[in-house]
Amino acid sequence: MIHFPLVEIGQKKRNFLPLEFNLSSWEVVQPYYEKLVEREINSLDQLKDWLIDWSELEGFLSEDFAWRYIKLSCNTEDEDIKNRYQFYINEIKPNSAPYGDLLNKKFVECPFTNDLIDSEDIILKRSVINEIELFRKENIPLYVKTEELAQKYQDIISQMMIRYQDTDYTLSHAAKFLKDPDRNIRKEVYELVSQRRSKDAGELNQIMDELIKIRHQIAINAGFDNFRDYKYKSLGRFDYTVEDVKSFRDSVASIISPIIGEILKEKGKSIGLELTDMKPYDADAEPEGIKALAPYQNSEELITKTIKSFSRINSHLGQYLDLMDKNGFFDLDSRKGKAPGGYNYPLDETGIPFIFMNSTGKHRDLVTMFHEGGHAIHSFLTKELKLNAYKHTPSEVAELASMSMELISMDMWDEFYPDKDDLKRAIKEQLEGVIEILPWIALVDEFQDYIYTHPDINIEQRIDIWVELYKKYHGIDVNWAGYEDIRKILWQKQLHIFEVPFYYIEYGIAQLGALAVWKNYKLNPEKGLENYLSALQLGYTKTVPEIYNQAGISFNFSDTYLSELLDFVKEELRKNSEA
Ligand SMILES: [Zn+2]
Repeated sequence: MIHFPLVEIGQKKRNFLPLEFNLSSWEVVQPYYEKLVEREINSLDQLKDWLIDWSELEGFLSEDFAWRYIKLSCNTEDEDIKNRYQFYINEIKPNSAPYGDLLNKKFVECPFTNDLIDSEDIILKRSVINEIELFRKENIPLYVKTEELAQKYQDIISQMMIRYQDTDYTLSHAAKFLKDPDRNIRKEVYELVSQRRSKDAGELNQIMDELIKIRHQIAINAGFDNFRDYKYKSLGRFDYTVEDVKSFRDSVASIISPIIGEILKEKGKSIGLELTDMKPYDADAEPEGIKALAPYQNSEELITKTIKSFSRINSHLGQYLDLMDKNGFFDLDSRKGKAPGGYNYPLDETGIPFIFMNSTGKHRDLVTMFHEGGHAIHSFLTKELKLNAYKHTPSEVAELASMSMELISMDMWDEFYPDKDDLKRAIKEQLEGVIEILPWIALVDEFQDYIYTHPDINIEQRIDIWVELYKKYHGIDVNWAGYEDIRKILWQKQLHIFEVPFYYIEYGIAQLGALAVWKNYKLNPEKGLENYLSALQLGYTKTVPEIYNQAGISFNFSDTYLSELLDFVKEELRKNSEA
């Protein structure tokens, strides 16, 4: 049986920090770091208390930063909000980093640490040792610089709009026109979006150039040959290597690409085009007479129906999302000045996460909502774990939570699609999307692998590599003639490349895991769900493969496993088309 933690707002408990605590300067928080550094630890119990106090400080700071980040992504144009965010990046982060290192060392060197032998403590020690090995004081200002550049990227992207038929659209909003059955509309909007992206392409190329140089230096300072190897360690990839990822990418290229070709051809047929005549703006088109899926009219409806869907999976899950709604922890509508993308941000002290999105009523937004909802459930389920470090899972696990929820929730999509044909189309789109995303994931990963292991190439060479790799993963593709320039900068829309480098292959690994979770769920909903939720509840108190095993699946991304899961997807696609 899953234990669902009770969550109420306004129940912050603090033993170490004062209840009223305003992070107005570094000086107000520094004494608490000092206290932790200086405290004498004379027993195992004292060590445990010390860990809890440290965790309380980390939890406070992490939530304080979370709010600055959330507010800024909701309104990137507000100078006050921007300054409050910058203050944390420029003042708190660089000043607290050396203390983090001191505390890490104090923990590892403490004689009682050897007596911590539970699995969660083994995991914790492993991560702390990893951090100590990577920490270099001279990297602190370099990290500040990369954060500033990532912020610049966000500013540029969040300003991108097009004007179409006398109305301004954000680029995520404009994407809906690419589904329009009218080819002229698709072409016109695609070109407007491309022109808008091209306008800032030069500057984004420059930003990337700077980021690569700085990140390379960070790696060198820490004793690595390149930023890729540094990043594998800093992301805590304890269970797989650069070579494993390479062979995963190669399996994707050889197994998935032909299937994508088939999907594209079928799409072309439905809109009366041969593959060779299909342009990039045709890939998402709906056939004549078919309207784009419109799962909801406004964000209120999206929230209400999402809560209902989660309740149908399990009543506790619905209650959790309802609690978020009651406390205003959703900002869903796309608007100018909002940062791109979507996320679920856990708030360590409050225990209720925040969901941010750029929703415009598309089917894709519905999927994002269930994705972020899966992350949110994960946040709630780990609420009672003693230390923050136990709550924050590596991405291979975090994305397993969210991507599994995308698939599990499909049985409840009739909330949004009362029409049986719409529902069938939505499920088809989701399952095809699961397949189609894999080459993009592999491409983004290999591109980063290349550019960080070849840090000296220039912008032109980097673009050539991108195009070459793009072709590797899209063996059978639409006809890009006349649109080659936009293909050169497609990577610029992937914010991970700028903001969270190398955090991407996890989506591929977790996608396979999610398919396996969904397969179990289809075979036995009750047991499948219980396994899945009990794995989330572990937080990061076991290794990643152990967490996957708890979910009833194996941590695996071999080509045989990939093929096996694909066969299952194809079978489900076939059932759906006959339903
Ligand atoms: Zn996610």
